[in-house]
Parts: sequence; C-alpha cells; structure tokens
Amino acid sequence: MPASAPVTQDVLTIPRKLPEGPVNLVGLTREGLREALIEAGTPEKQARMRVGQIWQWIYQKGIRDFAEMTNLSKAYRAELAEKFVIEVPEVVKRDVSADGTRKYLVRIAGGHEVETVYIPEVDRGTLCISSQVGCTLTCSFCHTGTQKLVRNLTAGEIIGQVMLARDDLDEWPEPGEGMGERPRLISNIVLMGMGEPLYNFENVRDAMKIAMDGEGISLSRRRITLSTSGVVPEIARTAEEIGCMLAVSFHGTTDEIRDRLVPINKKWPISELLDALRAYPKLSNSERITFEYVMLKDVNDSDEDARRLVKLIQGIPAKINLIPFNEWPGAPYERSDWERIERFADIVYKAGYASPIRTPRGEDIMAACGQLKSATERARKSRAEIAAETGLG
Ligand code: SAH
Ligand code: SF4
Repeated sequence: MPASAPVTQDVLTIPRKLPEGPVNLVGLTREGLREALIEAGTPEKQARMRVGQIWQWIYQKGIRDFAEMTNLSKAYRAELAEKFVIEVPEVVKRDVSADGTRKYLVRIAGGHEVETVYIPEVDRGTLCISSQVGCTLTCSFCHTGTQKLVRNLTAGEIIGQVMLARDDLDEWPEPGEGMGERPRLISNIVLMGMGEPLYNFENVRDAMKIAMDGEGISLSRRRITLSTSGVVPEIARTAEEIGCMLAVSFHGTTDEIRDRLVPINKKWPISELLDALRAYPKLSNSERITFEYVMLKDVNDSDEDARRLVKLIQGIPAKINLIPFNEWPGAPYERSDWERIERFADIVYKAGYASPIRTPRGEDIMAACGQLKSATERARKSRAEIAAETGLG
C-alpha cells in the first residue's frame, strides 16, 4: 500500500433518532425504550413495567404488530401504533448452499445492502452478522475491503439481522410455548460479516446487549464473538462494556507483512495489539482469545511464520483459527496448499494451542469469510488499485 493512501475513509452514521415519522423500537436499549415511551405520553410510574412487557413481545416472542400485545389495553396499543413501529431490515434475496448455509442479502435504510450468513452445524448454529456496509479498512485479502462506500449500521439494523434470521428459521416460540422449549437454531453469533465492529462501537454494543438480555433473545456473552482487525483503543472497552468473546484478525507475524495484509497495523502495530489482548481475558472474564489467521500461499504460511506466531502470543490464553483463503474475483492471493496448512497447524498445536482449520462454508453462494460484498454496490476498486495496495502490483 502506498504511504499516502488513507487507512480510513469518511463513514456515514445515521442519527439515532430520525427527526420525523414513527420511531422504530427495534435497537433501543431498555433505557432508550423507556425514554421513548415517556416522551410519547406513557406515565413515568408505569414506564418500567411497560418496557418489560413490550420488550418481551419484541425480543422473546418476535411480535411486530402492537395489536397482538394482549397484555396491554386496547387504547394503549392504538397509541403505540400511532407513534412507533417495530421493524427489521428486509431480506431481498436468500441463497441456500448445498451444505445448508443460508446467505441473506439484507436491505437497510437508504437502499444499502449487507449480508448475513447462517451456518448450521451438528452441535450449534452460528449467525454471522455485519456491522457496517463495506469497510474502511482495506485489508488486501478481503473482498469487503474493496467496497468503497461505507456506512455504519444502526443498533436496530444489527440486532434486526438476528431477528430476520429467526423469522426465516421459524425460531420464535409459538403462542403458549415457554422459553427454552424449542431447540435453539441460532445458538451463537459472530460479528464476522461486513465491517469493522469496533469502528461502530456504540451500535454494536447496544445490539449485543439486546441479544444477551435474559428477557429476550437471551444468548450468553460466551456465545457471542466479536472479530476485530485490531482497533487497539477499543479493545478494553469491548471487555468492559460488552464482555463477549474476542477474535482478532492476526494474519501476519512481522509488522512488515501485517502492514501489507491488515493496514490498520500501521496505526497499531503488533506489539501494541498484543498488549491490549493480554489484558482482555481478565477484563472480560473470558477464557481465551481466538487468533484468526488466513492462509495465503507463500505470503504468511511458512514454518518460520508458525513458530514466530506461537512465540508472539506466549502467555495469552488462545486458540488459533486457521482460515484457508477464500478466493474472490480479482483477488491478488492464492490459498495455501492443504499440506502446508496442516503442517502450520501442527506446529501451532505442538506448541500447546488448539489450531482448528476453518472449513469453508457456503462457498458455492459466496458466503464464506471475506467473500461478502453486495453485488449492487457498484463503486468497486479496480484490480490495479488492489494490486497497488498490496504492494504486489
Ligand atoms: N472486520 C472484522 C470482522 C470481519 S472479517 C475483522 O477483520 O476481524 C472475518 C474474518 O475473515 C477476519 O479474520 C478476516 O480477516 C477474514 N477474511 C477476510 N477475507 C478473507 C478471505 N478472502 N478469506 C479468508 N478469510 C478472510
Ligand atoms: Fe474490514 Fe475485516 Fe475485511 Fe479488514 S478483514 S477489510 S477489517 S472486513
């Protein structure tokens, strides 16, 4: 990447409260919901109780129509319907892979699109959600990073992805069915879709608080993993204010190579990143950090890289997730050979770290890691631009 190229670009953030029209209740925190209800005329003394009731309808039962909130008076329901809506983003396309992976193309306000992916496995179901349209961080192996236009998702658009997937999977309880009676189809959430979640901190935090709330979607914080490219100043805050599991896109074992692969490394180099990661488990009371490592042929996949990696992370409770590079049109890299990946995994494993190789899922529908990018976003970098940024051109 040339020295003059910007690491970040301007990001559009939608004001949390739109000046006109009904307010969408999806994405408001409990406190935000309380304020909205009071502002709309709910007596302060009743507000807490109303928040609890409405919260359960929205997040425990999946109700979108105030008329169905039968524990509220008819008059109050009508009042709510006048001032508020309960809306999740619209699914404009759904692809189902041969392996059962589902990819949703989701339209959000302003006509932008993001992708959400559901990955069923034997013992769990993982929903991979997006936090931004595109990404300002031009990691050279990532398809999302080639998309020029970027906007932060609102908290409602982030938690809305969980809700629309629950709609599609028919996961909300039937009337009369208690919590915990149905098997959980979405048992885990990973913030590994489009965008850098720590560049949209407040919205991601508020959405994940909603996902963890025991009176609603009720996912344990240990079943939520946030993946960051290494926004060092926000890592401690993630531990304190979200407390979820952390994954970090490591990918390189020297600053020279990591600068090229994950350009944010120029701002916060490996040593600073490792300091922040060392402090994370204690701050968040979580066991271990996942190091994501994309396997790029002849770039970062040597035995020496593997040995440097285990040396660097010494003392950090960690798991190393090896991700075979997923190709996309115009990509300037190739996937490492299978024997190379296994050899790398073996070195890491022998040093005492779990080193699972991530099986690519949903490749036939371009749903695999780093392949996400809405086809409708026309503003696309050319091959020449990508090559220049990787320093390979
Ligand atoms: N922006 C965040 C989260 C989204 S990316 C981050 O970078 O951590 C989720 C994971 O997929 C990251 O580890 C990312 O580096 C990796 N990834 C991106 N492009 C990829 C590709 N083409 N093949 C394999 N993994 C990729
Ligand atoms: Fe952004 Fe993550 Fe892709 Fe890097 S790997 S460009 S941070 S989405």
